[in-house]
Amino acid sequence: MGFDLLNKLNIVVAICDRQTLMPSYSSSKFKAMIGACGEAIFNLFESKDKQFSREKVLTVDAQNPYEFVIQLKDDRTRKTIKVTISDYCKEQLMIVGQDISELKKLEYSLQSYASIMETQEKSLIKMAYTDSLTGIANRRAMFKKFNEYIEYQNQDNINVSLCVLDIDHFKQFNDIYGHEFGDDVLKSFAEKVTLALDDDCYFARIGGEEFCVLSYTRNSVELNTLIHNVLDSIKFSEILTPEKNITQISFSAGIVEYTKHGTTLDELLSNADKALYFAKATGRGQVISFSTDLLAKHEATLTAKFRETKR
Ligand code: GH3
Ligand code: MG
Ligand code: MG
Repeated sequence: MGFDLLNKLNIVVAICDRQTLMPSYSSSKFKAMIGACGEAIFNLFESKDKQFSREKVLTVDAQNPYEFVIQLKDDRTRKTIKVTISDYCKEQLMIVGQDISELKKLEYSLQSYASIMETQEKSLIKMAYTDSLTGIANRRAMFKKFNEYIEYQNQDNINVSLCVLDIDHFKQFNDIYGHEFGDDVLKSFAEKVTLALDDDCYFARIGGEEFCVLSYTRNSVELNTLIHNVLDSIKFSEILTPEKNITQISFSAGIVEYTKHGTTLDELLSNADKALYFAKATGRGQVISFSTDLLAKHEATLTAKFRETKR
């Protein structure tokens, strides 16, 4: 009958009368494995409404009344038995029980492992998009966000503007007070700018002492006003040096607007850099919006300054 083989596979079988449910055959381990829940099995087979002996049967998943999983608990062990009841012949039924406890344990371990992997994957993704020094978004995150904004822009016809800002004379903090103090300045700068911006802005560190603000609600004029206010608040904030002296910080910024000043991020960043260069070259601590005649304006300013010195 092959029941010996089933025994070896830890599968138990009983053949019982369809009417009386009296077993005419049961494999040697049947009683040991599911004897304790035999009553429950028969009850289930007889009527779905009957209650099982709750102290023995923890859960019964009987979506299909002919195949269900029973969890058994004794003093020391917790077992999960899969029970299948099927027609054996006209008068008899066959009950097959399989101890799937190990399989369930493995399934549980795999689920735990999968959840650990998921958590690790999430933290890796977060790390990949976060600047480790300041904790704000990094350059990669800014590129991703820009693409998202462009998608919104196409759908909702809103403004997308971008600002590149660069701390003025930052190198001197490193040179005078050391690199560690320079790091502290970067961290505190990122915190202060974050506080001064609103939820419609995305703030990222895109290089050493270079940052970027993306806005998806403002045009370049409106973003200019906002960054101007940020600059004012930064200029008025004080930084304490390691020698407990008070020093100040400022930045220069270049602003561009999507489509008006470029349709790709590279083009926009390049034009924002030109405006930033103009801001640096004409005095620093200022916010300049890009325009095509900016470089010519820059030349004119330099020439005027040159003439002044000649007077
Ligand atoms: P400018 O006003 O023209 O921008 O002058 P700057 O001194 O700010 O600019 P410059 O490009 O001459 O120097 C930038 C310095 O920033 C040089 C570099 O060593 C420093 N730097 C870049 N990344 C970091 C960092 O993560 N930590 C520290 N402490 N310094 C950094
Ligand atoms: Mg720089
Ligand atoms: Mg700088």
